[in-house]
Parts: sequence; structure tokens; C-alpha cells
Amino acid sequence: MIYLDNNSTTRVDDEVSDFVLKCMISEYGNPSCTHDFGLEANINVERSKVQIANVINCDPNEIYFTSGATESNNWVINSVINNYTNPVIVTTPIEHPSMLKPLSFYSCVGKCSVYFLNVLKNGSIDFSTVKYSPSLISVMAVNNETGLICDICNIRRYNNCLVHSDITQAIGKIKIDIKKLDLDFASISGHKFHAPKGVGILYVNKRNNISPFLFGGGQQNNYRSGTLNVPGIVGIGHAAYVVKRDFDKNNKLIDHLSELLYTHIHMCGMNYVVNSDVNSVSNTINISFPDVDTKNLIEYLSSNNIYVSGGSACSSNKVQPSYVLKALGCSDKISKTAVRISLSKYNDTNDIYHLLETLNQYGEQLK
Ligand code: PMP
Repeated sequence: MIYLDNNSTTRVDDEVSDFVLKCMISEYGNPSCTHDFGLEANINVERSKVQIANVINCDPNEIYFTSGATESNNWVINSVINNYTNPVIVTTPIEHPSMLKPLSFYSCVGKCSVYFLNVLKNGSIDFSTVKYSPSLISVMAVNNETGLICDICNIRRYNNCLVHSDITQAIGKIKIDIKKLDLDFASISGHKFHAPKGVGILYVNKRNNISPFLFGGGQQNNYRSGTLNVPGIVGIGHAAYVVKRDFDKNNKLIDHLSELLYTHIHMCGMNYVVNSDVNSVSNTINISFPDVDTKNLIEYLSSNNIYVSGGSACSSNKVQPSYVLKALGCSDKISKTAVRISLSKYNDTNDIYHLLETLNQYGEQLK
């Protein structure tokens, strides 16, 4: 199998699964219990916070565990809606649906007003359209479809405005320094960097008050009740540790593989347009084949055990133009015929050669 869909999800790292398993079969205590077995589980949770804090440069006490970035994003929006009267939320049109859908819902029911910033092709953000003083600005760090790195370093701060970034696709790909960025909130999902699915993070700057998301037993300082998913938490912590330890080595490999793909893609014998910008993370290669039925191409690759996505995974079974590419100024045709190839540390040069060969076979069949 050649798995080239790592922006959808990744294989759990072997080191990570060892720790997760240990947590499920021998260190399975409830971290809220005060006996030694519970305390041992709590030590595992606290270690995980430190491992994550070391990757994003924050205080471990600013880490809250969630079920994933979808929950983290929804939590931030809910909190702003709970804490402000008529909040104004400013975001970009290329955010993940877990930002855009709740914002669309809450603005439809009159709970907030939402304004969109233009994102330029190179990832810079045009703030000139902001007319009102926002309560929250939310800009993703790296786009999941094109890998575009958005310029979150230069988010303009307005009076008392909170700043959130969905940094889900950035972890392991670019360095994130929460303190330098001076973010209030940041969302992460573990399964995008070789941790298990169903565990994520919401970073909450300690100067802020976020409103509680789940009420119950009072876990996580009363902000997000529910027995902690310790195996997942240990998994995301160790995956973060591996991200930091192997950052240079893995990115060197992925840079090399992506360069190999870009330099040889012309050999596929089909017309193509590269949608990823030079300012995209190197693991994400978004290419449109305007003369091809992309759904058919993806199926052909799949029948050859090569797995890629069309547009984002969330919309991959509908052939609709990618809203991300459209917002970045691509035509309908280009936005409808995009293929996303996303690499990880588990890929190698053979995977790229095999993909190129199979694309070439597909191109030959069309002649
Ligand atoms: N934000 C971004 C940028 C993503 O890529 C994803 C996953 N595709 C999410 C949020 C949601 O993550 P999850 O499905 O793990 O909650």
C-alpha cells in the first residue's frame, strides 16, 4: 500500500502505540482517583502536557485535552458566544469546516456576526476589510487542502480582541511558538501527527477565561468534564515528543520526496496545474488535472493501492469545487479537478516513483 493521504490522518507511530497499549492494559487507572494507581495515571497525563507544551512553547497548565480539533474549534466559538453580547468574529474563507460550519450556524441564528478576511495566494492576510472591532480573530496556521502557510505572525490585534489559530496541520511541519505568536487559543488534533484518533488539544492562554464546554465531574479544572482519555492523552503526548525529537530528520526526508514529485510530475503526460504555493508546507502537494475526471483518477490510483484525496477529505465523496481553492482565486475547473497528495515520514522514494508511474499509465490510457 502507498499511503499518500496524511493530511486526512496518519499511521500511529510504533513508539506511540507501545505507550498507548501499556496505558490500556497495565496503567489503566482513572487519573481523578487519589489512590496510587490513579496517581500513576495522573502522572502520565501531566507528562503528556509537558511533551505538548515543549512542541508549541507554552505552559503545560495551558493545555486542555479534547476529542480533536473539531471539538477544540467549536469550544472556542461557543465560549466567545457565551462571553460576549453580539460578538463579531473575523475569520478566513479557507478555514476547516469545524470552524466555518458552527460560525455559519451561529450567525444564522443571530448569535454572532461573522466577517471574512481575504487570504492571498502567498498566505498573507488582508486586514483592510475589517470594519468593526472584532471579539475574536481566527486564522488557521496551515491549510489542510493546499498546505498554504497563513501569516499568523502578523494577525492584527484590535482592542481586547481574542486571537485563535487552528494549528492542526502545522504540528510537525512548521515550528509553532505560541508565546511568540501571542495566541489566546489554539486547536490541535493528534491523529494528524501519528497519535491515535479521538484526542486533541485546546491551548488556552492563562490570561483568558474560556467558558466550560462539558459539565460533569469537574475534570480539567471544571472546564471540560468527563473521565480523561488517558491512552489517547499518552499517545498525543508521546507523538508530540517524537515530533520534536525527529523534526529536522523527518522534514528533510519529506522536503526531498516532495521535490522529487514536483520535478517529475510533468512525466505523467497529462495537463496539470500546481495549486500548492511555494509558501506551502512541503508534505502537501495539491495539483489539478483539468482535463481529467478526478474522481475516476483517484479510483484508479486506489485500485492500484495508492491512496490520495480529492480536495479535502471531508468533501472527497462529492465532486464540488474546493471552496478553499475558489477562495484562493482558482477557477471552477481547477477547483473541481484537484488532487491532494500528502506525505509523511513513513513515505519513501519508491512511493513517489510508483505514484508517478501509475499517473503515467493513467495518462497513457486517456490517449
Ligand atoms: N482543522 C484542520 C485544519 C483539519 O485539517 C482537521 C482535520 N481534517 C480538523 C480541524 C478537524 O480535526 P478532527 O477531525 O480530528 O477533529
